[in-house]
Amino acid sequence: MHHNPIFIENLSYIYPDGTHALRGINLSIKATERVALIGANGSGKSTLQLHLNGILLPEEGEIIIGEWPVRKENLQKIRNFVGLVFQNPDNQLFMPTVWEDVAFGPMNQGLRDKELTARVLQAMAAVNIDPERYGQRNTDNLSGGEKKRIAIAGVLAMNPQVLVFDEPSAQLDPRSRRQLIELLKSLPLTQLIATHDLDLALELCDRTVVLSQGQVVYDGATEQVMSDPDFLVQHSLESPLCYSRPYCQLEDAPVKKRVLV
Ligand code: ADP
Ligand code: MG
Repeated sequence: MHHNPIFIENLSYIYPDGTHALRGINLSIKATERVALIGANGSGKSTLQLHLNGILLPEEGEIIIGEWPVRKENLQKIRNFVGLVFQNPDNQLFMPTVWEDVAFGPMNQGLRDKELTARVLQAMAAVNIDPERYGQRNTDNLSGGEKKRIAIAGVLAMNPQVLVFDEPSAQLDPRSRRQLIELLKSLPLTQLIATHDLDLALELCDRTVVLSQGQVVYDGATEQVMSDPDFLVQHSLESPLCYSRPYCQLEDAPVKKRVLV
């Protein structure tokens, strides 16, 4: 396992239409760290994440994933190393059945037969999807929470070392959201989680990075930034529910974080 699987130095990115989406980002993430990436809409979270497996290539600055700079010639290695889970699972699932979808990535990596089957079963078990019940189902006909878990299984099946999630809890009902949180907690991988769900960030991540207009404006302890409502408002964010409601009884709020304001 790499000590520093993600290393970003002075990364800037301008879209072809001239939008300056990232400005001088420096970020280093250690192995098995779980880091929340928060910021208002348009602050650059998705653009940053798209650089981490080379969907976008750095224009200025450098990104090193594992031991490989993000450049065209390293893309295959980088995509095996970093699994990206898109916000909308409909953009991720495209094979006719659940089984084929989860098998697609490892097949591309060259796995066949028993090895392939074992990889698919392992990934389905990790997300708690029963292969007997779901294997032959059409992915179009599943609930949002099921689709999300299968999209994650498809990424896990490639055995990545880093998972990058874009808004993993968006559009999930409370029960599916809870299952997702428990799932992410159970995965012993480096994770970078872009989210508007600040309670999720508090529960899962010791470290939070705040983006504002393409810049890192905070990188430190999650509890510290979440308990600073002035700073959050300044960057168009709201305090997590478990900090902002008196006598908060949210089941999701970790007990030690239920505080009076
Ligand atoms: P976030 O994920 O934090 O909401 P994004 O990374 O999607 O932010 O967007 C950062 C900035 O880049 C925004 O100003 C957004 O409008 C712009 N942007 C995103 N995608 C594109 C694109 N394909 N072309 C031009 N501008 C884009
Ligand atoms: Mg986004």
